[in-house]
Amino acid sequence: MRIRTRMTDAAAGAVAAATDMPARAGRPSAAAALDEVRRVYRDLDARPVERRCELRTQCCHFKLTGKTPHLTRGEALLAARALRATGRKSLPSRGDGACPLLDPQSARCLIYEDRPFGCRTHFCAAAGGPYARREVIDLIRRLEEIDEQLGGDGPRTLPAAISSEL
Ligand code: SF4
Repeated sequence: MRIRTRMTDAAAGAVAAATDMPARAGRPSAAAALDEVRRVYRDLDARPVERRCELRTQCCHFKLTGKTPHLTRGEALLAARALRATGRKSLPSRGDGACPLLDPQSARCLIYEDRPFGCRTHFCAAAGGPYARREVIDLIRRLEEIDEQLGGDGPRTLPAAISSEL
């Protein structure tokens, strides 16, 4: 079980310095948080462990896989921004248990470039299988720090996390 502690402003500043997020009294700006989430995703892409998404979208069918990605608040914020950029103001509804961001017309992710961490690291055997937690634990910690700085309360299921940021 994850133990959460609230950071002091000094600790938040230390994290900001370590992650290039601007130090502040209180929460980071949304823009700074989004930049840091994107940096985490880029750092994941740069890992030597090879994974290659082939856009099969099997992992997007939560009812079939039995697994739903959980998002920290920074990830949800980024995903919600990306969805709004498509002109949508709410999560599309699907009746088949698939991810609401899987477009039924194109069979593609509506926010692929900004898809959450879990979509990049878990589930898919065709993409090379899940990352071992130890391979990405430092990146997970960074996402957790952003979550905490944004006043989040830990990872939530994809639909709930994104809906609350729209
Ligand atoms: S966010 Fe995109 S990649 Fe992730 S499960 Fe949903 S449709 Fe698939």
